[in-house]
Amino acid sequence: MTKIRILDYPDPKLKRVGKKVDVVNEEVKKIIADMFETHYGTENCAALAATQLDFAEPLAITVIDFSENKDDPLCLINPEIIESDGEQFEYEGCMSVYPDHLHERVKRAERVVVSALNEQGERIELSAEGFMAKCLQHEIDHLNGLTYLDRLSPLKRQRLLDKLYKIKKK
Ligand code: ZN
Repeated sequence: MTKIRILDYPDPKLKRVGKKVDVVNEEVKKIIADMFETHYGTENCAALAATQLDFAEPLAITVIDFSENKDDPLCLINPEIIESDGEQFEYEGCMSVYPDHLHERVKRAERVVVSALNEQGERIELSAEGFMAKCLQHEIDHLNGLTYLDRLSPLKRQRLLDKLYKIKKK
C-alpha cells in the first residue's frame, strides 16, 4: 500500500471533480487500500476524498472512519445525496485546509440519505444524521470540487483566508 500526498489549499487540484467508477476492479480496490493507508497514517483524520489526494485522475471515492480505535472503515464509491432535511451548524476542519489551525461553522443538513456503491460494487443506501451526515456532505463536496470554504459567507471565508495566509507566512 502507498500513502498518497494530501493536497493543501489553495492547490487548484482541489477543484477537480471525482471521476465516476464504472466497475470496482482490482485497480479500484488498490486505490481504496491506498486511501485507507493515507487516512490511518494521518493524525486526527476522520475522512478523505480521492479528489483531495494527489492522484493523476481522482475517482469518486471517499473513505471514512472516525471511530476511536480506527476499526470501523466505510468506503463509498460514486456517493450521491438523494435526500436531505433539517439543519446543523457545526465546526468543520479539513485535512487540506490547515486542520491544526482552521475550523469554522458550516451550515449543513442534519440528516441525509446517500446512495453509493460499496467496496464490493453493490448499490447501497445509507441514512445518517449529526456528525456522520456532516462528514458525508463534506466529503461529497470534495468529490464535486468544493471545500468547506466554498460553503461560508464571503466575510467568514475572507477572515479564514487572512488567517491562512498569516500561518503560511510563518
Ligand atoms: Zn476536507
